[in-house]
Amino acid sequence: MLSIKGLHVRYGAIHALKGIDLEVGEGEIVAVIGSNGAGKTTLLQSVLGLVKPGGGTVTFEGKDIIGLSASRTSNLGVSLVPEGREVFGTLSVLENLRMGLKQKIGSVSRAQFDKELELVFERFPRLHERRHQLAFTLSGGEQQMLVLSRAMISKPKLLLLDEPSLGLAPIIVNEIFATISELSREGVSILLVEQMAHKALSIAGRGYVIDNGTVAMHGPAAALLGDERMIKVYLGVH
Ligand code: ATP
Repeated sequence: MLSIKGLHVRYGAIHALKGIDLEVGEGEIVAVIGSNGAGKTTLLQSVLGLVKPGGGTVTFEGKDIIGLSASRTSNLGVSLVPEGREVFGTLSVLENLRMGLKQKIGSVSRAQFDKELELVFERFPRLHERRHQLAFTLSGGEQQMLVLSRAMISKPKLLLLDEPSLGLAPIIVNEIFATISELSREGVSILLVEQMAHKALSIAGRGYVIDNGTVAMHGPAAALLGDERMIKVYLGVH
């Protein structure tokens, strides 16, 4: 579904990605782990056309998507949930969700919106209770539920998630990860960037360890979790 080959990205003198190869198959959860500054966010941004690669190819469902704008890539069925939970703070939960649908299909009929809302609130009853609340007043976990729902409302085939656990309490992290697994069971393919390597690999089918702009290791998630070098170097366990 997503195929990245030989991807290079430079920011001036900084060579952030040095020939990355990565694949996401249909319905797969693929985890990308690695330390701060390894190049994980740059990788997601390259897929969505937010940074311009200096070499390599990115294809989605066989179509070359390098050079496409983020909105065109999103119209092909790729959604990014960026790091830092970017909600529209002064808009209500309902208005935030409406933005998600509008971005995808332009104008939104009331009936269409209501149908999508039902699905969102079934998944996250807490968002229903807070539907008229301004987004900036939500807790971190609720904001993550909102950005995830906003991305899902546009019915992506491939969801790119950048550090969904960042700054959240463990119990909320579990809830978010359970939702990610559920989305995958519903057929959405997922590329999950996470610092919480153990958690990410526990729901992923396969994983890639990015180190200083290159793929240091990759393979089935279970094999990575059982790999001594991976545990020592990247999970910080000795
Ligand atoms: P983190 O986990 O800390 O978010 P990351 O793995 O997502 O890190 P990136 O944000 O992709 O890493 O950054 C990779 C490298 O590129 C880093 O050295 C970073 O300083 C550099 N970099 C990222 N964005 C820019 C930019 N806009 N201009 C210059 N350098 C950048």
